[in-house]
Amino acid sequence: MDYKRLAELIFPEVKESAEHWERRYPERNLPEGAKVTRLGPSPTGYIHLGNLYGALIDERLAKQSGGVCFLRIEDTDEKREVEGAVNMLLEGLDYFGIHFDEGVTADSEIGDYGPYRQSERSAIYKTFVKKLVSEGKAYPCFMSEEEITEIRAYQEENKLNSGVYGEFARHRNLGLEEVETRIAAGEEFVVRFKSEGDLKNYVSVDDAIRGKISMPENDQDIVILKKNDLPTYHFAHVVDDHLMRTTHVVRGEEWLGSLPVHLQLFEAMGWEHPIYCHNNVLMKIDEETGARRKLSKRKDPELGLGYYRELGYYPQAVREYLLTILNSDYEEWRMANPDADPDDFPFSCEKMSSSGTLFDVEKLNDISKDVLAKKSAEEIYEFELSWAKDYEPEKARLLEENREKMLRVFDIDRGGDKPRKDFIYAQQIFEFVSYFFDEYFKVEDEFPSECSKEDIEEILKRYKETYDEADGSSEWFAKIRTIASDMGYAAKPRDYKKNPEEYKGHVGHVSNCIRIALTGRSVSPDLWTIQQIMGKDAVFARLDRAAEALK
Ligand code: GLU
Repeated sequence: MDYKRLAELIFPEVKESAEHWERRYPERNLPEGAKVTRLGPSPTGYIHLGNLYGALIDERLAKQSGGVCFLRIEDTDEKREVEGAVNMLLEGLDYFGIHFDEGVTADSEIGDYGPYRQSERSAIYKTFVKKLVSEGKAYPCFMSEEEITEIRAYQEENKLNSGVYGEFARHRNLGLEEVETRIAAGEEFVVRFKSEGDLKNYVSVDDAIRGKISMPENDQDIVILKKNDLPTYHFAHVVDDHLMRTTHVVRGEEWLGSLPVHLQLFEAMGWEHPIYCHNNVLMKIDEETGARRKLSKRKDPELGLGYYRELGYYPQAVREYLLTILNSDYEEWRMANPDADPDDFPFSCEKMSSSGTLFDVEKLNDISKDVLAKKSAEEIYEFELSWAKDYEPEKARLLEENREKMLRVFDIDRGGDKPRKDFIYAQQIFEFVSYFFDEYFKVEDEFPSECSKEDIEEILKRYKETYDEADGSSEWFAKIRTIASDMGYAAKPRDYKKNPEEYKGHVGHVSNCIRIALTGRSVSPDLWTIQQIMGKDAVFARLDRAAEALK
């Protein structure tokens, strides 16, 4: 068989040689040990946690080694393309601090190894497909859908492995003339790889996360070029990651199954394969069954990255959480280096677990609290404002109009050894401080049952009469103690606990009446500070409002 003629016959338009592309994309000039990684998402418009999780690994490996992390858009599946998806992706990842050194950008692309959209690389792929055909390693296959369906049915019936292999690879050895005739008749074809693999033999590879992996060889004549002249994922991966000089392929474990195909293709091309890093799928504990399961797009809103944006999770907190689940020693490192930049953590693939990774929003929330407790009031304010501008313009307006006041609000119990850990994400933070705004104030808790309605009215009345904004914190509280004891409440909770029958309640119950009147809540940060920020007029207005509501 004259494979060169066959190659010319099916690809007359392909003029470039493989060497041309090799020269066009030379080895990268990088320091020893520098890693080149890439994120290869499909532009489906849905950005999920897995994308960020993978991107963070890519980014850490490249940045820490002085390498390159690039973005390649894998858009060979035209059906899945969604308009604006690339910008959504760039923007979504940018929020979490993932910036690519090279690849597709918002309006074009940067870097010497492009084009970075697979749909624009058809000429490149075809050169290499033609090369394989000319070497007798690939062939045109004209089988129709019906024929393939028929083969599948036969295989099922006879309990054979399904797919196009061995005797089922019917067009493997078509003669030149037949190919010519079919092409002249306008028949469409795909190009299949001619597999020499045997399921009885094993291939093995050292995965940077999983260690040594051994799997049976691939015996299927897989499609490498589709009818639309675009490659399948398998072929595009091999050609792109070779020519773009990727050193580490970080991708989900769902690709493990096709690893033998990829290794076989690299070998057929005469190229060294990159280091594979197959990461874990993210799991959660199902609320209903209590069992571990994969996060699902349909059931779990927390799988979408948009979820964290809308609620306003702090990017650093999400990154730190992901590092916690990525590397088993991150938390330990964090404790030993509480003030270090998380990017200084020596990230490594070897420390990643190779069995399902559990994603846990509670843990994320705990980390958020720790991270936010260390931010200044100014940082919290700016973060809150930018979130509100994107998602809650009305709240943004209030925050802007009350800048000075909000800075003081966010500063309550901040700093020091034991800062309060009340803040988790932007929406919750606004909610937490919302009582400062009349527009959002609502009474959420009930007055203590120890105090009768008449007593509450009396407490609020006396409190207002004796209130002096100039009082320091202890003078202020002393006045509340006086009101309490004058009205038959213990001035100290301890006294009440000792002799409950002697009192109606204690000073805590009295001060809680005031707290609820002012904030609508029975739990709040330091009330004296809150009042100082609110100002006397607002304090009185709240007291009047509460008294009115009691009538
Ligand atoms: N386009 C593939 C995906 O979205 C990328 C896999 C890879 O990184 O190689 O799953």
